[in-house]
Amino acid sequence: MGEILLTRPFPRVNGHLLCGEFPLQDLAAEFGTPLYVYDLKWIRSRVALFRDAFSEVDPVIAYSVKANGNLSLLRELSDLGCGADITSGGELFRARSAGIEGMKIVFAGVGKSEDEIEFALDEGIYAFNVESHSELQRINRVAERKGVTARFGVRVNPGVIASTPHEYTATGHSDTKFGVPWEEAQELYRWALEQESLDPVGIDVHIGSQIAEIEPYIAALTRVLKVASDLSGEGVPLEYVDIGGGFGIDDGQVAALDIDALAREIVPRVMDSGLQLILEPGRALVADAGALLTKVEYVKTNAQKVFVIMDSGMSELIRPSHYGGYHEIEPAGPIAGRIDAVVDIVGPVCETGDFFAIGRSMPMPEEGELLAVRTVGAYGFTMASNYNGRRRPAEVLVDGTEVRLVRSRETYLDLTRGEL
Ligand SMILES: *Cc1c(COP(=O)(O)O)cnc(C)c1O
Repeated sequence: MGEILLTRPFPRVNGHLLCGEFPLQDLAAEFGTPLYVYDLKWIRSRVALFRDAFSEVDPVIAYSVKANGNLSLLRELSDLGCGADITSGGELFRARSAGIEGMKIVFAGVGKSEDEIEFALDEGIYAFNVESHSELQRINRVAERKGVTARFGVRVNPGVIASTPHEYTATGHSDTKFGVPWEEAQELYRWALEQESLDPVGIDVHIGSQIAEIEPYIAALTRVLKVASDLSGEGVPLEYVDIGGGFGIDDGQVAALDIDALAREIVPRVMDSGLQLILEPGRALVADAGALLTKVEYVKTNAQKVFVIMDSGMSELIRPSHYGGYHEIEPAGPIAGRIDAVVDIVGPVCETGDFFAIGRSMPMPEEGELLAVRTVGAYGFTMASNYNGRRRPAEVLVDGTEVRLVRSRETYLDLTRGEL
């Protein structure tokens, strides 16, 4: 089979959805279901897209580990030169275990504990993106105690409202818990200057997730660059500007953010500032490279509805029920000539909120058939749980003609490990 030029991963070839050279049905047969499948070639092309678009300013691509923290995936991203944006000590552990250098790691999050701060200082991370005065005081205390200097940037809440598909994924407006109001950021830097253990080196903003428009990024960047230039005027030159992540992808319902168009706006402004650009894409690198393969257990019909009951549900993929995440779902095998039906795609978990899609029109699924749920490479496995005593699924990474198991399916013993 020759190289297929892809506009999106998991193309349908001769009736069958493929990942690399593998029919999804073969992967399901070999590794079982439910199964997370990731297309590494696609992820490489996404990293290249960001690199090329922003090449003039040679950005640090700090991949947002919370999107998908699988070690093998992180190792591949590390090999591609990516750094990491982390939100916890656990993600720091993952990033370092995968070989990502400390100096390419930025640490965000409103609730950093003393332990986590200490761990981050030990690993020599590039910077803390600080979300409050109390946090900065705590970082100062821990750094002082250890006799080291902590590098940080303030995560500014720019007061920018970005349109996101769900209110839970907007983070850049003033009534969210994130960041420091931009009017107060300057005071934090001034206070830090008087502390021996703090080194103010950057400024950071992250306005939400699955953002399809360029304007909020420009507004947020403009705001933080103003703070940076004021600071520089006061003799506090910064080193980096971090514009966060949230770059929207095409999920079949919302159009993707145009990364080239975004770069055309961002690059000149960053060049003018002379600062090192940090990008924190999560979803945009990995979401559409992932599919969840799941089998139809039962088809159950009542007077009003057709329920297609899968062997996976909210325990494996919580996005639909948690914040209305939209995912295309299609049979992995042939669909030609099949008749569409309107169905609810639901899981085995004992919750009415356990669904992937409600009232979805698709070729009428049959019991035993394999379905593929798209755009689950981000916030899929990482949000999976053991609720209802479910064992988290296996994950495989496909690189053209090669497939690797990168996480084994959990066993019943895994479920009770650690319990006394
Ligand atoms: C979640 C998060 C990201 C990544 O968001 P995506 O929508 O996956 O790109 C980046 N930066 C911070 C601070 C985050 O919390």
